[in-house]
Amino acid sequence: MTLTEKLLARAASKKRVQAGDNVWVQADILMTHDVCGPGTIGVFKREFGKTAKVWDRNKVVIIPDHYIFTADSMSNRNVDILRDFVKEQGITYFYDVIDDPNGHWVFDPTKGAMKRQHGSHYAGVCHAALPQKGHTRPGEILFGTDSHTCMAGAFNEFATGIGNTDAGFVMGTGKLLLKVPETMHFRLEGKLQPGVMAKDIILHSIGEIGFDGATYRAMQFDGPGVASLSIDDRMTIANMAIEAGGKNAIFEFDAQTQAFVDYRCKLNGTNPSYEPVTRDKREKFSYELVLDLSKLEPTVACHPNPGQRKLARELNAIKLDRAYIGSCTGGKTSDFIEFARILRGKRVIIDTFGVPATPEIVHDLQTARWGQQTVWEILVAAGVKMTENAGCAACLGGPVDTFGRMNAPLKCISATNRNFPGRMGHKDSQVFLASPATVAASALTGKITDPREYLPA
Ligand code: SF4
Repeated sequence: MTLTEKLLARAASKKRVQAGDNVWVQADILMTHDVCGPGTIGVFKREFGKTAKVWDRNKVVIIPDHYIFTADSMSNRNVDILRDFVKEQGITYFYDVIDDPNGHWVFDPTKGAMKRQHGSHYAGVCHAALPQKGHTRPGEILFGTDSHTCMAGAFNEFATGIGNTDAGFVMGTGKLLLKVPETMHFRLEGKLQPGVMAKDIILHSIGEIGFDGATYRAMQFDGPGVASLSIDDRMTIANMAIEAGGKNAIFEFDAQTQAFVDYRCKLNGTNPSYEPVTRDKREKFSYELVLDLSKLEPTVACHPNPGQRKLARELNAIKLDRAYIGSCTGGKTSDFIEFARILRGKRVIIDTFGVPATPEIVHDLQTARWGQQTVWEILVAAGVKMTENAGCAACLGGPVDTFGRMNAPLKCISATNRNFPGRMGHKDSQVFLASPATVAASALTGKITDPREYLPA
C-alpha cells in the first residue's frame, strides 16, 4: 500500500485498502474557520438537532482567519457565530480574534490596517496555525473546511479539504465515507540551488501535470531530496497539491517531523502520541515523476491558473504593479527570511505588501535580528508595507477594505498559492505565483525577475 492507503486503511480499521475502495474513515481532527464554520454549524444543527453535541469537543478545532480585520459587519458576524457555538458546545480549541468570550471584534481606526488588532488567543491562518498549536500529528486523519487543508500532509498524515455538508456530518459523528484515491509518486533527488525554493518544486510539479492533473489523487513526495527540505518547505509543497486538484499530499515521517511535532504538542499541551506510517515495497502508483532538485530554476505560474508554468527568467518583459508576500503557502518565517535576504539594504519600486501567516511569525520577524536590524525593520526599510494583523488578507480577495486587496485591474506577483481570475480581488487583475525570493527580486525591478540576479554574496 502507498502511504495514503495505509493511513486510510488504519482509520477504516481494515488490514488493506486499494484505490477506488469506499471506506468509512474515523477523523482525528475536524478544523473549520470563519468562512465555512457558520455553514457547517447550520448543517450540523439541521441534521442532528438544535440541542445536538459535537462528536468530540477536543477534536473540533475552530480557527477564524479569513475575513477578520475588516469593518464588514457580515464578516464580523461570522466570527460571532463561531464564538457562540464554542460556548454552547464547550469546544476546547478556539483561537478567537478577541480575548473576551462575550465580546465582539470592532475595527479600531486609530490602529489602522497595520497595527495589531487582535487578542492573545488569535492564531492566524488555519493551516499554519494547526501545526504551530500542536494539532498535526503523523498517522492521523485531518479534515478541514478549506481546500488547503492538504498542507498538513507534510506531517505524514492524511489531510484533506471537505465541504460544509461533509463537515457537518463529521461534526456529528466523527466519521466520513471516502473513496481511496490513486497515488501519484514524486521522487525528489538532489538539493535546491541558492535562489530556488520549495515553491519552485511545487510550481514545477503542477506545471508538469496541469492544474487538474492530480484530480482526486494523492500526491506522495519522497526520496533522498526530502531530507534537505525543512518542515516549512514540505508544508509549502503539500499546501499546493490542491492546485493540481489533488485529494491530499503526503510526506514520509523523519527525524525533522518528529522533532517538530513533539515540540509543538508539548508546548501546547496537546495529545503527544502518534503512530506514523512508513513505506513498503508494494506501492502501486498511477504516475511517477523523478525530480532532480538541483536542476530546478525559479519558476512562475502565470495568470490565469497555477498550471501555467514558465521560468522567471523568461518573463522579464512582464511589468508589474504590485508584489505580495503572505498566506499559508508563502507567509511563514522562513519565507520572510528569504524575502528579506534579497531586499536587505535595497528599496522596492512597486507597491509591496507583507502579511505574515500567524502572530507567532510576526513575533519571529520582529525579534530575529540581522546585524543591527530585525527582519521586520529590514523589510519596512526596504519599503514593504508590513501588517501585524496576520491572516488570509488579500490571498483570497475578501471585503474591499482588506489589506493588500487588488481593487483595480493590477498585475501582481505573489507568494500565495492560487491565481484564478478574481482570486485576489478585482476580476480583471492578474496574479503571477512565485517563490518569496522571486517576489522580492521582482519588487525591486517592477518586472518579473529571476532572484539569482539579486542573491547577496
Ligand atoms: S491564506 Fe489563502 S490559501 Fe491559505 S487558508 Fe487563507 S485564503 Fe486559503
